[in-house]
Amino acid sequence: LLDVPVLTAWLKRADEMVAARQTYLSDLDAAIGDGDHGANLARGFHAVTAKLGTPADPAALFKTVGMTLIGTVGGASGPLYGSMFVEMGKAAAGKSALDAAAWADVLEAGVKGVAARGKAVPGEKTMLDALTPAVAAAKGAAGLSAALSAAAEAALQGAEATVSMIARKGRASYLGERSAGHADPGATSAALLLSALAEAAR
Ligand code: ADP
Ligand code: MG
Ligand code: MG
Repeated sequence: LLDVPVLTAWLKRADEMVAARQTYLSDLDAAIGDGDHGANLARGFHAVTAKLGTPADPAALFKTVGMTLIGTVGGASGPLYGSMFVEMGKAAAGKSALDAAAWADVLEAGVKGVAARGKAVPGEKTMLDALTPAVAAAKGAAGLSAALSAAAEAALQGAEATVSMIARKGRASYLGERSAGHADPGATSAALLLSALAEAAR
């Protein structure tokens, strides 16, 4: 089950993985944006692990993560990932641990938060192109570990599929058709976060 210790391990793993791939994420952003995505997220997840402490339950943990990301990441992705975790916190209210079905619902609420905040839909070359298939995969899986691996795999495929897309939202949309041929940095980081969770829960 996803309880506070496992979720805490997720955020530590996410911090490590983002730090290790900071340059890669910023290089992706340099191609179609302003080159700061890796640095933005590295700063944010470092602050998250520093501030997390020992939250009472998953809802409190997600809320702290969301508020910390909003306060430290900046750019477009800060409010978007921040909204995702804040909405996950609301959806997790009253639960001490999440099973596969509860996790799928919590993730879905978070992804709806991203879509609402960004006024975006799948196909616009954003993090939603990794997150939306991840929700569908989590919902279709039997058992938590299958749900986490399926979500991570679907997010990775979704991120790869952004290469051929033309950006319709965010800075990359300024490039129009020239945004095609590059992976979206936010979709790539979303896949990274979900693979960190699958690893941490293993
Ligand atoms: P900024 O573009 O402000 O420098 P980042 O580089 O940290 O912020 O994040 C860029 C990522 O944010 C993009 O790759 C994309 O995935 C995501 N993004 C940007 N705008 C939106 C939006 N309206 N909806 C969803 N995701 C978005
Ligand atoms: Mg950027
Ligand atoms: Mg920026």
